[in-house]
Amino acid sequence: MEILKYARPQSMDEAFRLISEQRGTAIGGAAWLRTNTKTIALGVDLADLGLEYVREAGDHIEIGAMTTYRELETSQLLRARFGALFEATVSHVVGIQLRNIITVGGTVAGRYGFSDLNTTLCALGAQAVFYPDQTVDLAEFIEKGAGAPFLLEKVLLPVSAKGAYRQMRISENDFPIINTTAAWTGSGWRIAVGSRPAATRLCQKAMAILGEDPLPSDETIASAGRAAADELQFGSDIRASAEYRREILPVLVRRALMEVRG
Ligand SMILES: Cc1cc2nc3c(=O)[nH]c(=O)nc-3n(C[C@H](O)[C@H](O)[C@H](O)COP(=O)(O)OP(=O)(O)OC[C@H]3O[C@@H](n4cnc5c(N)ncnc54)[C@H](O)[C@@H]3O)c2cc1C
Repeated sequence: MEILKYARPQSMDEAFRLISEQRGTAIGGAAWLRTNTKTIALGVDLADLGLEYVREAGDHIEIGAMTTYRELETSQLLRARFGALFEATVSHVVGIQLRNIITVGGTVAGRYGFSDLNTTLCALGAQAVFYPDQTVDLAEFIEKGAGAPFLLEKVLLPVSAKGAYRQMRISENDFPIINTTAAWTGSGWRIAVGSRPAATRLCQKAMAILGEDPLPSDETIASAGRAAADELQFGSDIRASAEYRREILPVLVRRALMEVRG
């Protein structure tokens, strides 16, 4: 990565202007940006914008775009609201040094196929807040993208949701072969599946099978797992074949659902 011009804006207005009018590239943790050889004409470092927080705000929790994975993993507030869900989701990502750097904003913005975190955020029904004032369903953003330069400010989590994460990796430091998060929102179930190896998608048919029953039977859970594998598209890559992913997924979905149901 080569940055020809570097800016460190002191306000969201300034950052947004640099990104939207001068086509600047937002810099979060820069861990992913530095993995490629692209030349960046204008790098816009978001470090001074006060976007590093996990805090309560009414009926949801706000996570600032510059919040690191390590902060998600160790946040007492997230643990109090969601148990070990965030720790389970991000603790497989390489090592603590990297998790001290990589950000929520860089993850959501990148819409990476392999993402662990985006799967959990989609399943919880998170919303993405773009500066100056656009709030969109995060799962929809992951599917469709933004279509224009954007500055992600924060992510909103509904506090009523509870979820469980499952993934499979060949080795700890690798990307997942497949991952899933199941969540009970308080009024219905959500199941998200990522690393197919394409990006996270919700499993609408599996969610419909579970309906609004907070205590689905083992049989219903098993058929939701099978439906998730049937309705999604899988691909083959260096880590696993599409068939293998399809075979593994129902087991992971079932385990995640059973953990949430209890
Ligand atoms: C070696 C390595 C291994 C990894 N392994 C895994 C893994 O196993 N599982 C997994 O889920 N993830 C993995 N990741 C990805 C990681 O979790 C992050 O998703 C990724 O590094 C992006 O976060 P970042 O802070 O580095 O973003 P950056 O590199 O700073 O930015 C990434 C992209 O997002 C844009 N961006 C950043 N912040 C914003 C913002 N606020 N608004 C708008 N655009 C923004 C940037 O312009 C850029 O296009 C890995 C990353 C690395 C480097």
